[in-house]
Amino acid sequence: MANIKFFGGETIPLEMHKVRIVQKLNLPPVELRLEAIKEAGNNTFLLTNRDIFLDMLTDSGVNAMSDLQLSAMMRADDSYAGSMTFDRLKSKISKVFGAKCFLPAHQGRACENILAQAFVKPGNVVPMNYHFTTTKTHITHMGGRVVELLHDDAIEPTSTNPFKGNFDLDKLRAVIAKEGRENIPFIRLEAGTNLIGGQPFSLENAIAVSKIAKEHDILTVLDASLWQDNLYFVKTREARCMDMTPLEITRELASHMDIIYFSARKLGFARGGGICSNNEEICQRLKEFVTMYEGFLTYGGMSVREMEAMAVGLEETMDEDVISQGPQFIEFMCNELEKRGVPVVTPAGGLGCHVNAMSFVDHIGQREYPAGALAAAIYIASGIRGMERGTMSEQRNEDGSEPLSEMELVRLAMPRRVFTLSQVSYAVDRISWLHEHRRLIGGLRFVEEPKTLRFFFGKLEAIGGWQEKLAEQFRKDFGDSL
Ligand SMILES: *Cc1c(COP(=O)(O)O)cnc(C)c1O
Repeated sequence: MANIKFFGGETIPLEMHKVRIVQKLNLPPVELRLEAIKEAGNNTFLLTNRDIFLDMLTDSGVNAMSDLQLSAMMRADDSYAGSMTFDRLKSKISKVFGAKCFLPAHQGRACENILAQAFVKPGNVVPMNYHFTTTKTHITHMGGRVVELLHDDAIEPTSTNPFKGNFDLDKLRAVIAKEGRENIPFIRLEAGTNLIGGQPFSLENAIAVSKIAKEHDILTVLDASLWQDNLYFVKTREARCMDMTPLEITRELASHMDIIYFSARKLGFARGGGICSNNEEICQRLKEFVTMYEGFLTYGGMSVREMEAMAVGLEETMDEDVISQGPQFIEFMCNELEKRGVPVVTPAGGLGCHVNAMSFVDHIGQREYPAGALAAAIYIASGIRGMERGTMSEQRNEDGSEPLSEMELVRLAMPRRVFTLSQVSYAVDRISWLHEHRRLIGGLRFVEEPKTLRFFFGKLEAIGGWQEKLAEQFRKDFGDSL
């Protein structure tokens, strides 16, 4: 992937791949979109794919595979134990992460389950740059607690800090001093920090964290699920990495970690996941959990086809042309939106473009779910599905009160190699149209609110019938156009 300069001076991301399998898309007219979002209770999780034009809900398990991945899947060697497929995957892991031992698991959270079961005891504290939903759930399930150690400015929506995912090292030292090393089973570093907008840590920061951990004899655990984007960012933003190959950078980072785990739904354009390490004692300890929860040690709940795809995908992740596609498309989308006055999280991260609903619809109070309302409005205006990441995604407290989220974002994920630049331009156009008419957007209120995971299954209604007015305005401005 290359950012190519046009004769006119403009720079655009140029796809370094061609598309040879296509899937037909459907863009329903605005009247049908209006109906579909009402039917879904204004919850984008409840829309059906048939009614969606561009699905920007997530980057998990929806990235396009390459010809080499698909052909590797055909030669997969199927057997319960000792398949050649597993050998191929294991040697790829050893090449990429320099790890001797690899324990397969069916996806990222399965690795988190194993690590939490093996290491976390009631009352323990796990320091990390920032939590991910499934990570936190597994740690708290075992009676542990998560402490987040980002710098204070990392959750500012707009910033020029190239490494918002960095640990604040002073906070890390303070936590170790306060909690005591016996109470800290491991320190977790999350690459491409998911919930703050796919923001990276620097290689230098990760090494500094591992040094502090070693001084105190504490294990370091890298969640490499979003390493692909983080890798691109250190390669392009961090002076010491610019002359290194992606493989050299990955090996350097890995050499400082005790344990690495990942979801291959993201890393490696495949499915599945796994844990690797060079510490024989740790591997022995984790092995029994793999056989207990996942499957035999040579498949861990994955099909051989998934493992073949992962092995090739990991190799392709060491190619700068491949890993730059996501971040460059996201940067393009964020820049174009910013030019049109639409508030987005900056600097552009991995994973997707994050629209700042707190400012986009600043007339909607947090108790009326600005990010949820904006996600519904984006769907009406474009047929594009994004994900609410704000107060709707929070769970009520025991006493029924509602915690307000620190940020109100709509995440528009960019599945890798799936969309074209004209589709991204379409998204930019419809969202900036919506921004022009943002005063037409109103709040939402729950009509069905489940006790847990309300953002998955809850249904809401528009306060004051604003959706019809928005659809009417769309017709007025776009005529017969979809
Ligand atoms: C997606 C993700 C996970 C969980 O992986 P699954 O395969 O969805 O279980 C863990 N950590 C991070 C940072 C992720 O983005």
